[in-house]
Amino acid sequence: MKLCRFGNNQLGIVEGERILDVTEALEVLPAHRYPLPDEDPLIANLEVVRRRIDEISGTASTVPLSEAELLSPVASPGKIIAAPVNYVKHLQEVLDDHNLHHDNQINHIQRAGLFLKATSSLVGAGAGIPLRKLERRNDHEVELAVVIGKRGNNISREDALDYVAGYCIGLDITIRGPEERSLRKSPDGYTVLGPWLVTSDELSDASSLDLSLTVNGEPRQKANTSDLILGVRELIEFASGFYTLHPGDVIITGTPEGVGPLVPGDAMHAWIEGIGDLRVAVRAAA
Ligand code: MN
Repeated sequence: MKLCRFGNNQLGIVEGERILDVTEALEVLPAHRYPLPDEDPLIANLEVVRRRIDEISGTASTVPLSEAELLSPVASPGKIIAAPVNYVKHLQEVLDDHNLHHDNQINHIQRAGLFLKATSSLVGAGAGIPLRKLERRNDHEVELAVVIGKRGNNISREDALDYVAGYCIGLDITIRGPEERSLRKSPDGYTVLGPWLVTSDELSDASSLDLSLTVNGEPRQKANTSDLILGVRELIEFASGFYTLHPGDVIITGTPEGVGPLVPGDAMHAWIEGIGDLRVAVRAAA
């Protein structure tokens, strides 16, 4: 199932070029009072929501996909976990170019570990990316994104896929420079998730998916997730060895070689096999 959020916090199922509006299924979600839960309510209750979707989808109204403003498929992740230099060729590309490493110490991911992006950086495809610090390089990074579906701690790589709700495309937008990654990658709009969530029953194996990114039609990044140094299973094992993973937590798995600059006016097109196409416009921040 391809589950999207769109428009005015509506819930949809993507079928070809149309969206079935199944917003009514959100009524099965528990009501929350303060303090809010440490999980994304939709992802935590996905099975119940899907059963309701099955009941109502036959009579759902439809919206053309081309007319919908796509929101992040996860509205309230507890954390956005990101993998630095997780493709061999990207590690070499960073080590070779001062514009990319800025004398930051670049380690192999097993030594560097993971980092966190602010959840306030998260947007969907329809929002576009408002670039800051235009005097510096702002780069695109296309990544396979994993959405955690079940709470887990110290998860083994053998069991890891049981904890996956589904997959999306992630864009990890980055201001180059000497500061900590979490600062340079966390401005508003610098994490794009979408175009929708492909649930893990539809996409069960993300270990060898082609992915690509173009800017204004020009090819920039092209790779296969089989080239990941730490794959999805290993990343879940690694991350959950440090902190509990909650439903709705997002892991962006790292970008392949070919990172490059963005400027206001650019049009990005990211694609991952089995997920779909993500089109995002770039503008200057107000
Ligand atoms: Mn990245």
